[in-house]
Amino acid sequence: MSTALPTFDDVVAASERLQGVAHRTPVLTSTTADAIAGAQVFFKAENYQRMGAFKFRGGYNAIARLTPEQRARGVVTFSSGNHAQAIALASRLQGVKATIIMPLDAPAAKRAATEGYGGTVVTYDRYTEDRETVAKRLQAETGATLIPPYDHADVIAGQGTAAKELFEEVGDLDYLFVCLGGGGLLGGSALSAAALSPSCQVYGVEPEAGNDGQQSLRAGRIIPIPTPKSIADGALTTHLGELTFPIIQDKVKDILTVSDAQLVATMKFFAERMKMVVEPTGCLAAAAVLQKVHPVAGARVGVIISGGNVDLKAYGAFLES
Ligand SMILES: *Cc1c(COP(=O)(O)O)cnc(C)c1O
Repeated sequence: MSTALPTFDDVVAASERLQGVAHRTPVLTSTTADAIAGAQVFFKAENYQRMGAFKFRGGYNAIARLTPEQRARGVVTFSSGNHAQAIALASRLQGVKATIIMPLDAPAAKRAATEGYGGTVVTYDRYTEDRETVAKRLQAETGATLIPPYDHADVIAGQGTAAKELFEEVGDLDYLFVCLGGGGLLGGSALSAAALSPSCQVYGVEPEAGNDGQQSLRAGRIIPIPTPKSIADGALTTHLGELTFPIIQDKVKDILTVSDAQLVATMKFFAERMKMVVEPTGCLAAAAVLQKVHPVAGARVGVIISGGNVDLKAYGAFLES
């Protein structure tokens, strides 16, 4: 696997590969959101992406870059959910076999969807086993290519295409807020922001209980943490990546955190005001703006809504809480 950092040229190449395959998701606005923030807020709605999250972009791009020999041996990956669905769907569309390593406690909806897209699921215990070790063992046994969820140049480049579309549609922004797990989406978004709106300040937003990104940025090195507990199940990563960290260090202004209660309030806002289902992790960036974690008064603000895959029973309980 290449350790070269992706560039904006790679994001542009990814957007060409995704043309006619990924949805160009809508950019939504809300008078109520603007009033709350005291700003002009543009929501890039990746909850309406194929398979329900931005991860289709990076997964499809990475598989499109494989050689015919690699395609024949298939791909393997590990994921707490959306990357699994992305790889399963992107593999099926490109005629490649996909094996997905998933935690035992992954949301039922995400596991069922992954199998529905044709992926083969292998489970592990996220509190006692290391998913990367399990993935490497499977890879050694089958010769399949490992496509990790965030620390991969083609994945990062693919994820950057959502922000690229946002800037192309709305022009310059003062701020861009991006949900943060391992940093694929944030890294790719920062590449697009730096190229298309150089004065835009990019912020990552992660769960309060898992603020490894914030700690890492401030310490100047990757700080690993134990698996955090948060309702933001797509951002329970324990560390930033060898590729995502340097991009974030170079191009991201700061990393903010939000609480689970702030995520629930944001989920309710989207349901009630914008008639839209957004999963807890997908609310991270919006929560920073709508819950006033960071002041944005008078500014033009971009927010990436990263996904909408939430178990309906869990979603109902969040709305009632
Ligand atoms: C994976 C995921 C994230 C975090 O993305 P990273 O690239 O790991 O930082 C955020 N939101 C959703 C919905 C996700 O599926």
